[in-house]
Amino acid sequence: MPPDWIERQLRRRGIHDERVLAAMERVPREAFVPSGARRRAYADAALALSHGQTISQPYIVALICQALELEGNERVLDVGTGSGYQAAVLSELAADVVSVERIPELAAQARRNLAAAGYDVEVRDGDGWLGVPERAPYDAIAVAATAPEVPEPLYEQLVTGGRLVLPIDESLVCLTRTSAGRRARFLSPVRFVPLVSGLPGPGPGMTGQS
Ligand code: SAH
Repeated sequence: MPPDWIERQLRRRGIHDERVLAAMERVPREAFVPSGARRRAYADAALALSHGQTISQPYIVALICQALELEGNERVLDVGTGSGYQAAVLSELAADVVSVERIPELAAQARRNLAAAGYDVEVRDGDGWLGVPERAPYDAIAVAATAPEVPEPLYEQLVTGGRLVLPIDESLVCLTRTSAGRRARFLSPVRFVPLVSGLPGPGPGMTGQS
């Protein structure tokens, strides 16, 4: 029997992909939560990390993974590593996960968390607005910070048929790159921390908080 939280927080809310449910059950979320919050590791909530950042609510992590429609052979980019939790769940679902984080201290902690829990994920320091072009193209990209518009470099780094799940303002959206152009699907209202980019000009610069 899966733990009660899987039933209550995930399945009853519409997470039906069995691979996603199994991955959520396998990843030890307590290994990614700051030590003071371990008791609340499986709470139905986002939890605070250092530097004003958060580890996403389990349901939102599962919703993102489900929308990415992973079957096991994919290369995935995770933007906004934070604790490394989303990256760990993705690595249960895909063949190769690259993650990028702009705050070096968080990236370093995420590398320790992932290694301790036994996950082989490459965590890069950098501006995820730009993606990680050296490892592109990706079958799927998950973004854990909100932007006022789609970062074009991320869309460009998708294969044809690839999926990009990201919050645009307060809407979680799934974009599919097709040969005929982009197709968008609304997933859920959400609150995420801003995707902070060093790029000048309107758009990324307006997300502020740097
Ligand atoms: N996926 C994370 C959630 C972290 S919150 C987890 O499972 O724990 C979002 C993260 O995005 C924060 O760590 C923040 O520092 C990072 N972030 C914000 N803007 C970014 C950018 N331009 N590039 C890379 N990371 C960014």
